[in-house]
Amino acid sequence: MNCLECQKELKDGELNEALVAYQVPLCSKHKKRLDGLIKDHNTPVEAIQLYYGLKQADISPMLEWWNGKRSVDIAISRAKLNIIIDTEYDQMTHEEAISDLEHTMHSFKNGFTTIRIPHTLVKHYLLETVQNIIGIVEGIKANVRAI
Ligand SMILES: [Zn+2]
Repeated sequence: MNCLECQKELKDGELNEALVAYQVPLCSKHKKRLDGLIKDHNTPVEAIQLYYGLKQADISPMLEWWNGKRSVDIAISRAKLNIIIDTEYDQMTHEEAISDLEHTMHSFKNGFTTIRIPHTLVKHYLLETVQNIIGIVEGIKANVRAI
């Protein structure tokens, strides 16, 4: 198996380490980079699985994209699409919910669409989730052309 980032062939130890942690094949260098990202941003593991699912579908996603105000789990710049993974421990207070809605509103004003995806969907329906996001990206691009 090869690293999904650099296509380098993996040694046995490397493969196991990344697969156990993230269920994606990565070389030591790229696993370490991902470990750092997760530590800094508290990135849910499902965001990583979705990121690589989209990458393999030629969508060119960005992981932990800084939009000027906060870090977005996944962004697809050519469609101005932000994807946030909802996790079980995201039990929102109403203050958090309104701040979240305001964030969505500001993003929308800047031409960005924000979608939230439950982490369980990524876990159990990764391929379908990727297919639907591809559809959303195509839909956004078609609408932008129409304006
Ligand atoms: Zn690599």
